[in-house]
Amino acid sequence: MTFLLARERVNAAQAAARAASNIVQLIDADVLRNVELYDQALKGLIEASQRTDLVNIPPQVRHLALFDLASNAAHRSDVLLLDRQGDVIADSFSVIPRVINLSDREYFQAHVHNPDPGLMISRPFKGRRSPNLWLIGFSRRLSAPDGTFLGVAAASMRLSYFDELFKTLNVGKGSSINLVSTEGFLLAQQPALAEELIGKDFSNRPNFIRILREGEGSFTSISSVDGAERLYTFSQVGKLPLIVVVGLSSDEVYGTWKRTAWLIGLATGILCLGLLWLTWLLSRELRLRLHAEQELAELAATDALTGLANRRALDEALQREWARAQRADKPLSLLMIDADHFKAFNDRHGHPAGDEALRRLARVIGDNIRRPGDLAARYGGEEFAVVLPETDAQGALNLAQKIRAAMAALAPFNGDRQAITVSIGACTASPSGEGTLEQLLRKADQALYQAKHDGRDRVVHASLEQ
Ligand code: GH3
Ligand code: MG
Ligand code: MG
Repeated sequence: MTFLLARERVNAAQAAARAASNIVQLIDADVLRNVELYDQALKGLIEASQRTDLVNIPPQVRHLALFDLASNAAHRSDVLLLDRQGDVIADSFSVIPRVINLSDREYFQAHVHNPDPGLMISRPFKGRRSPNLWLIGFSRRLSAPDGTFLGVAAASMRLSYFDELFKTLNVGKGSSINLVSTEGFLLAQQPALAEELIGKDFSNRPNFIRILREGEGSFTSISSVDGAERLYTFSQVGKLPLIVVVGLSSDEVYGTWKRTAWLIGLATGILCLGLLWLTWLLSRELRLRLHAEQELAELAATDALTGLANRRALDEALQREWARAQRADKPLSLLMIDADHFKAFNDRHGHPAGDEALRRLARVIGDNIRRPGDLAARYGGEEFAVVLPETDAQGALNLAQKIRAAMAALAPFNGDRQAITVSIGACTASPSGEGTLEQLLRKADQALYQAKHDGRDRVVHASLEQ
């Protein structure tokens, strides 16, 4: 997703740079053609001024001949011919030239000292006759065949030409089209980004230095005028000392992309939240289910009356512990516990009291088994079983005696002379011994039978090998 958005952003920048580059090319062509017209007018003026056959013709005709080409140049202010002292000797404005000396002008001095600067373009300046009008000057040197300075042909053009040209091109809000001289003077800007920028010197601004160095291309940078980020696309106008710079505001360039990125980001966010919520619901459902299953499993393994393990859980534990004892070469003991004369007790006190007595017996058994691996279960009726992993004959016998004694020591039930006693049959499978789980059960049962036979309230231990 991020990759796609990044690619879209690059695409947006590239499309904007292409559009800006087209605008730059368009302006280049128009400005070049127009400046060319000025240059031709100047060349024509120089050529005509050097023709000896024009010296003796009427001034009006001579004026026409001198400024013939000048009439082609659009936005022309005026065209002048200056002699080597800087005095006006021909004036497109009137047949009788204005009386003015322009030797102090920068371009005049440049031509005096430089035998071949070609077409010179001045900094923008304000006209003497119309002070609100920004102008730029084009000039060429008049030289004798031996190269001596004879004068200057100069023309001025209204900067409004650029404004009109730029106005026809729409670059969007916060963006602008600029014409800068290679010296760094801003000649025209459309739309104006700030008051009074025309004629301003940008020559030591980092953006201008970079534009001058690269000549043609585009880059994104912060404007030194208003601090806004812009995509600058630029190109020099032919070989003229002019550079067209189109600055597109980043808001314009990335506006659509930003909206898309926002939408996609938001949608992704909502999707993620939805997913998280679903995951949470699912995990909660699973947790509840696991809990319910655990409860069910416990219920399925528990004897309802006594809370001890039931017959099914006993069978599982026996299988498990038998296999473990075989693997680990450890002894395994089993106790079978049966209440003595319980039928009679039931008959005397009723079934509910019998149930209560069974619960008490279960509690006594549970209280006496301490090891975590031990398991007490109700085998059925008034009969209980205790599985004792890693317990040898002596240990089993000790525990059995403890349970028997604890029962005998209980207070007798209402009116009885003594408490309910239990008979216990124990059997131990020793590590190296032979035998099966069934034999272990049977031997324990036989031991219990023996205990009953021997008079009850006692423990009989049988070993598996006998
Ligand atoms: P002994 O074991 O000492 O030989 O005599 P006994 O009377 O205990 O022998 P028997 O196995 O014949 O009788 C078991 C009696 O236990 C039968 C039944 O009335 C009683 N009994 C079995 N299960 C329950 C039970 O869940 N609740 C109650 N109250 N009595 C039960
Ligand atoms: Mg019994
Ligand atoms: Mg019984």
